[in-house]
Amino acid sequence: MIAGTRPELIKVAPVVRQLARYEEIRVSIVSTAQQADLLPAFLDLLDSEVDYRLSVMSAGQSLNALLSGTIAALDPVIAEVLPDLIVVQGDTTTALAGALAARMRGIPLAHIEAGLRTGDTENPFPEETNRRLISHMASLHCAPTRRNRAELVREGIAPQDIVVTGNPVVSSLQNAMRIPHVSGSLDGVFGQLRGLKPIILTTHRRESFGVTLDRNLRTLRAFVAKHPDTALVVPVHPNPAVKETVERILSDTERVTLIEPLDYASFLQLIQQAWLIVSDSGGIQEEVASLGKPLLVLRSVTERPEAIDAGVARLAGEWPGQLEALLDDCEELNNWIASVKPIPNPFGDERSASRIAQAFADFLLGQVESGRAAL
Ligand code: UDP
Repeated sequence: MIAGTRPELIKVAPVVRQLARYEEIRVSIVSTAQQADLLPAFLDLLDSEVDYRLSVMSAGQSLNALLSGTIAALDPVIAEVLPDLIVVQGDTTTALAGALAARMRGIPLAHIEAGLRTGDTENPFPEETNRRLISHMASLHCAPTRRNRAELVREGIAPQDIVVTGNPVVSSLQNAMRIPHVSGSLDGVFGQLRGLKPIILTTHRRESFGVTLDRNLRTLRAFVAKHPDTALVVPVHPNPAVKETVERILSDTERVTLIEPLDYASFLQLIQQAWLIVSDSGGIQEEVASLGKPLLVLRSVTERPEAIDAGVARLAGEWPGQLEALLDDCEELNNWIASVKPIPNPFGDERSASRIAQAFADFLLGQVESGRAAL
């Protein structure tokens, strides 16, 4: 099981937990530490220890350097473990590197969160390319939704190799919500939000760096200034391009609070207080329906249209003034905000992770049986 970023750990953790129920399966966890600064707070989500800790990041390296360095770092681990199945999740450079490393060693590959597409290789970049390539190397595809399955079939993936499982983030979220939260790290923030309508912002997408990120932040700042009953809280992503812009535009602004990124349980606790969420994150689009919170998606296109179709999210980045118009709408039309609460999560349910674990077990067992038949 290969992971290296915050969302990958959040999503593989419940699958690892479910796999522990199968005596005949032994899982080795490999962390590439692609997001070295964010990862430590998320390692606790795994019940097990990381078996191999790689360190693939270096300052200012190109995507090609990261990709080739990650393949080179993974290869000796694969040669040592010689697994029967290699699992990658999502669409990161870690996932693509893991897929290539698996294929070049001739080891079957399983892909969690398969079949998400925007149809635009620039949005998101490079993730749309990564996930397309991974699909054509995988032997087992765990598609969160039926739409994802249809997308894979359209691309020529054999239907019998696809299992519709739901997205394991839904299982992860349910697990995290069950743990009674003891950290008081947000007490100060909650104090500042008392009596106000909190807007929670997360932003980190590479495609929006520059003009778009600048404009989004200014729009939010102006909205909060215009509406004294609102407040903005931003767990600031550590990417220097994001941090610099967020601090330049939002520091020292009334009713705007910038905080460090939060561990998962704390972040969910914060989200539960939200009046509105504004984000360009992929994972958050999958989570909001489980939390009954409305989301404005800071993207021009999304690979998760199920959230838009379900009515829990709205696209806010198709044209320059759209975020402002939608924020005004939220203020005027409190009915959308209220209407999202009962919407069921279109990305799966608590059992998503156990379906994925079952698919892996079936695949591995199938291999043993076909091996026996060949004897
Ligand atoms: N998240 C978190 N703490 C934060 C911000 C986000 O735990 O301070 C979680 C969030 O709930 C979601 C995941 O991180 O599950 C999303 O990660 P990110 O936005 O970095 O990646 P993406 O989903 O866009 O790939």
